Amino acid sequence: MDDVHRLIRAIDFAAFKHRNQRRKDEEASPYINHPIALTQVLKVEAGVSDIDVLCAALLHDTIEDTETTVEELVAEFGAHVASIVVEVTDDTSLPKAERKRLQVEHAPTLTREAKLVKLADKICNLRDMVDAPPAKWDLARRQEYFDWAKEVIDQLRGSHPRLEALFDQAYAGKPA
Ligand code: NDP
Ligand code: ZN
Repeated sequence: MDDVHRLIRAIDFAAFKHRNQRRKDEEASPYINHPIALTQVLKVEAGVSDIDVLCAALLHDTIEDTETTVEELVAEFGAHVASIVVEVTDDTSLPKAERKRLQVEHAPTLTREAKLVKLADKICNLRDMVDAPPAKWDLARRQEYFDWAKEVIDQLRGSHPRLEALFDQAYAGKPA
């Protein structure tokens, strides 16, 4: 299967899995816009062409936020893509604060591929936090989110200067 074929299958798979989900913004935007935004950042803005990274970015929230299993991702997209997705998946059985702490702790141990997906995810979420913020979040909570995202990214610097610069640009938009 060629690369374009795999990428299209990942878009189709993620769109189906997230079909009933919405983002937290006022308009409740379709969830799939977010994984697609990661691939735009990775490939178009940062020049990342690794097809496994691009597929993993499209699929990065499927295990955490839908009923998708690791086995399903292995069968559909292979063990490498599945393993990148697993690396960026939080353990949803843990309390929120613990999950946030573990993201900071685990960031330096991620593979390079998972670090690229993590960078793109945080870039996109900070941009959303400014352009289409969660409807119910007050200023303090949005500010806290920026600082936590930076704590995570500070743990994996040296992975991809261009993505890190895009993160820093997004962080500079922290609401005051
Ligand atoms: P979440 O981490 O669940 O919410 C942020 C996540 O929502 C993002 O990482 C993103 O994840 C997703 N998301 C969906 N829509 C948007 C959007 N429009 N813009 C940006 N991100 C979006 O936050 P929690 O509810 O877990 O709260 C986290 C922390 O906030 C807690 O640890 C708690 O301490 C604190 N808190 C603060 C409060 C306050 O008033 N200050 C109140 C309650 C909690 P993805 O990429 O996976 O889609
Ligand atoms: Zn995400």
